[in-house]
Amino acid sequence: MSVNVEPPVLEGYDFIRTLGAGGTAAVFLYHQRVPNRLVAVKINETPLADRNSRNRFRSEANFMAQLSEHPYILSIYDAGITPGGRGYMVLEYARGGSYKDLSRSNQLPVDQVLTVGIDLASALFTAHKRGIIHRDIKPSNVLISTQGLPVIADFGISSTIYTTRGAKGFSIPWAPPEVLTGRSGGSEATDIYSLGATLFAMLVGRSPFEYGYKVKDTRELAQVIVDEDLPRIRRADVPKEFEKVLRRAMNKNPDARYYSMLEFARDMQRVQQQCYGHQTPVTVEDVPPYLPQQRRRGRQATDAAGPAAPQPRTWVRPLAIGASIVAAVAVIAALLVFVVMPRLDSARGADGTQVVGDDAKGLDSHDDPSPGLGATADSDVPSPTGLAGTLQDGTATFTWTNPDPQNGDRYAWNRVGSDSAQSDATSSFVDRPTVSIDGVTDDQVCIQVSIVRADRQMSTTPATACAVRK
Ligand code: AMP
Repeated sequence: MSVNVEPPVLEGYDFIRTLGAGGTAAVFLYHQRVPNRLVAVKINETPLADRNSRNRFRSEANFMAQLSEHPYILSIYDAGITPGGRGYMVLEYARGGSYKDLSRSNQLPVDQVLTVGIDLASALFTAHKRGIIHRDIKPSNVLISTQGLPVIADFGISSTIYTTRGAKGFSIPWAPPEVLTGRSGGSEATDIYSLGATLFAMLVGRSPFEYGYKVKDTRELAQVIVDEDLPRIRRADVPKEFEKVLRRAMNKNPDARYYSMLEFARDMQRVQQQCYGHQTPVTVEDVPPYLPQQRRRGRQATDAAGPAAPQPRTWVRPLAIGASIVAAVAVIAALLVFVVMPRLDSARGADGTQVVGDDAKGLDSHDDPSPGLGATADSDVPSPTGLAGTLQDGTATFTWTNPDPQNGDRYAWNRVGSDSAQSDATSSFVDRPTVSIDGVTDDQVCIQVSIVRADRQMSTTPATACAVRK
């Protein structure tokens, strides 16, 4: 154990044994007398220096207690300061161990990793909405509750309550390049990277770059994370679509990663729906749990083949129809299959615009209300409507309408097309509902557009349209 802290004497609690120690804190198992239960007590090595830091500890503990109401965040029951001045927290005892041990000793089923990914992304999106960055997501910080659920531990502790760790609390195998090179001390994008690395490890048993490269020490490991390509997952049952999602989450460029944990979770739901015929719900307050446009397909699949039956990989169909679609996000492929391709011939307008802008409506209009599936699409961020474009003298100009404008709305857009040169993995953002693209040499330009709310929620289904040279 690297930390030298004695188990504190706590009134109403009896010490049982040591559970472990991290860099600056130790965790002990105690029996709480009333209510009668086992709890974990985490205590910092360094005493809180003065009154200010004690007050901050108390208010942070209160804040974290609110966050820990989330089902996938470890619960905090109590917090206090020992007579010696050390801050401690009484935590839910996660008796299942951690995903570090589980993924080292077992090859986890892909569908289970998707479920855990959606659960953890939901927890982290909830935290991000409240301005809290975890900064140290890794398999050993994903514990397994008595009910067998994944719960994130050490939440917010790294830079707040246990003050000695600060932004340096990152662990190298799970840290993104911008942290290792000192360009970032932690952001939503760094948590997204670390969650991607954690899910990657759940599939292959080791951190991504330790899996792909031979390194002799942590300095070399940091170097390959910064300089070398993310290794491919050499596991035949991992769908390419899931690997693509993880590669986007772990892009070296933070701007090319998912915009939010919710967007990351939604893409995992899409993969799960397409490959395994069901979706794990997103668990975020005021956010619909399911992808609305896919409920109908999911329900049919369940009726026909049971809940976990693998479904045909419809996402690869764009390749089969000859248009090697390599848009980096799976949603783009899905849109092209279900929306763009079927309508390209039929929807050419007189002005040369191929309009596919009301795609979400098109899909949803076939979708019966689903009483058993929780929240409805009413609370979704809607798709832009009336998306249309013209292409003249090398400039494509698109406009659209926001059907439910709200303060702080912006628009994320990117090009989509039939080959990688035409597709952008990274979204650009505009404040007004129009975009111009100069220097176009192709006969056709297609874009997709999402509304982005101030709280970072995006249209569940982007609108897509193409402008065609006159
Ligand atoms: P940490 O300091 O958070 O890295 O934790 C050190 C060790 O204690 C790790 O092996 C964790 O698995 C274990 N641990 C931490 N929190 C808990 C908990 N709430 N329940 C059970 N074990 C825990």
